[in-house]
Amino acid sequence: MEQEFCRPSELNFKNKLHEECGIFGVYSFNSNSKISELCHLGLLALQHRGQESAGMAVSNYNEIKSYKAQGLVNEVFGGEELSKLKLKEAHMVLGHVRYSTGGEDIPENIQPLNVNSSKGKMSLAHNGHLLNALSLRTELENEGSIFHTSVDTEVLAHLLARAEAADIPTAFKEIHSKLKGAYSIIILEGERLIGLRDPKGFRPLVIGKLDDSYIMASETCAFNTLGAEFIREVEPGEMIIIDNDGLKSEFYSNNQHTEQKSLCIFEFIYFARPDSYISGRNVHQVRREIGRMLARDSIVKADIVVPVPDSGVSAALGFAEESGLPYQRGLIRNSYSGRTFILPTQKMRELKVRVKLNPVKEVVSGLRLAVIDDSIVRGTTINSLIKILYKSGAKKIDVYSASPQIVYPCYYGIDTPEQSELIAGDSTVEEIRDMIGADSLTYLSLLGLISAVGIEKDQVCTACFDGDYPIKPGS
Ligand code: 5GP
Ligand code: SF4
Ligand code: MG
Repeated sequence: MEQEFCRPSELNFKNKLHEECGIFGVYSFNSNSKISELCHLGLLALQHRGQESAGMAVSNYNEIKSYKAQGLVNEVFGGEELSKLKLKEAHMVLGHVRYSTGGEDIPENIQPLNVNSSKGKMSLAHNGHLLNALSLRTELENEGSIFHTSVDTEVLAHLLARAEAADIPTAFKEIHSKLKGAYSIIILEGERLIGLRDPKGFRPLVIGKLDDSYIMASETCAFNTLGAEFIREVEPGEMIIIDNDGLKSEFYSNNQHTEQKSLCIFEFIYFARPDSYISGRNVHQVRREIGRMLARDSIVKADIVVPVPDSGVSAALGFAEESGLPYQRGLIRNSYSGRTFILPTQKMRELKVRVKLNPVKEVVSGLRLAVIDDSIVRGTTINSLIKILYKSGAKKIDVYSASPQIVYPCYYGIDTPEQSELIAGDSTVEEIRDMIGADSLTYLSLLGLISAVGIEKDQVCTACFDGDYPIKPGS
């Protein structure tokens, strides 16, 4: 049984509190009766970052009205709920989509997290993971704090509430050095919207403008959906405060210039939407370049290039361009089947792969395939696909992974499993090839990945590939 009713502080934070999320906030200088609709659209654009639950909080400075529930954005906000979220003279809204592992998906954990304290009402939405959440929480509990959820965001809320400073921005400056980990956070409180990015900048956070509103969001694709203009990224270690006076920026971290940055390279590989821009780079184009790199580094002997949709599509396009081989849709994805990755048992995950991806016999039969996926984690997807592609008459299957071997777990907010569950955790490429049943298996090299992304190695996190953790787990 999953530990749904465990005391949160007894849970294993690595397994149970890992979240992949999307956050979205709007500050409108004039009151806006359509502000919750804006947030609905923004969250839809960020749906890929979390499919388990969605939530929203609207504020007119005096009152915060919130609704959140399990389900996709349109399941949660497609009906009556959006109209119930109306507030007279609304100026701000905050939204969140969340994607967590099974047991922790209890309603209390859905964000934004709404809290009341002597500093007033506030609502928080967090993307990332605090490594020391458990020890901070134990400390706070020992001092009498009572927790209602098992999310690390509540630890931050308690720290802010207990800080000596009277206002939230100063309170954050007072307590930030206690936080170890990855966080991009938007806080709605009083008459302002606050955006924060951790000093290493693991997770993205961007600022946009639409008419008389400022927007902060996990990814720029949310701006395109709304017709908003992208202004810039929130910098690592930066605090953005938006209030009636406009947008202010402050660097809260003392070592802003010396702190080594660690943008998650996996955002480029898998997590971000291909039409988003991160660090000035279009994600689709980066993935295409990754595919080209993969073909350049390999001796390709195949008849067609087959992407594993959707995550392998951009890399497969680049691979086909570089190798000169035809790109063919040998696998069709059922877009309505949901995500396979988070299902609790291996059997369920395997079954789901078959529901999600179907081969096209006429395309693959009798041919040698170069099958491209963005990444191989447990190996479930590729293993099932190889079986069904052979059943459909494929003559030879060469597998290409558009990322290097995932050998180590992530502690910064991407839900990779423990090392023992990672297929590359302690196996050689040849052993993995044998396990998945491919004719050959080629991984992109880490150097190839870094060069395709075009950011210096010391500016990105690559820990799941090389174990080089920017913040040591357990620290
Ligand atoms: P596997 O089936 O090997 O366990 O996982 C690989 C597949 O899951 C790939 O097709 C990839 O697109 C997807 N994937 C990789 N990383 C993640 C992740 O962090 N979250 C989710 N939901 N899917 C992922
Ligand atoms: Fe991203 Fe991997 Fe680093 Fe996690 S460990 S932040 S997934 S690069
Ligand atoms: Mg995939």
